[in-house]
Amino acid sequence: MNRTVIGDLAAALKALGEHGDSLIAATATPEQLHQVGDTLARARRLLTDAGAPAPKTRCRRHPNGPVEPDTDGDCLLCRTRSKPTATLARREAPAADVLGVIDELGTDAAIRRYGGHAVNAALAAGNRSPATPWGLA
Ligand SMILES: [Zn+2]
Repeated sequence: MNRTVIGDLAAALKALGEHGDSLIAATATPEQLHQVGDTLARARRLLTDAGAPAPKTRCRRHPNGPVEPDTDGDCLLCRTRSKPTATLARREAPAADVLGVIDELGTDAAIRRYGGHAVNAALAAGNRSPATPWGLA
């Protein structure tokens, strides 16, 4: 049983009750019936979800994926994938350093030294045009 959706299921059931209170034969509209159908579908979906096994992780993409050890349900897949990106971002050179090399040696030299991403990030930070494979745009 997946208890994480019980609150949403309860809210959907309360909304259904409100539909029942406001639905009157003499004044019912097609739009009103459409809304009842949407709420019914949502309640059915949530009921199915509530009956499914509880998710192992707090991750929406990998609810039954492996759990990062020593965490409160963090997704090991997402943690593993996000680490290299975070490491790259930390290693990226300050924009002022990159802009200094661009001014001194040119864009190509800066790209060779820092990489295209760092050069474009520095150019954007300095309100300059982005670099292209053939130099400045
Ligand atoms: Zn994940």
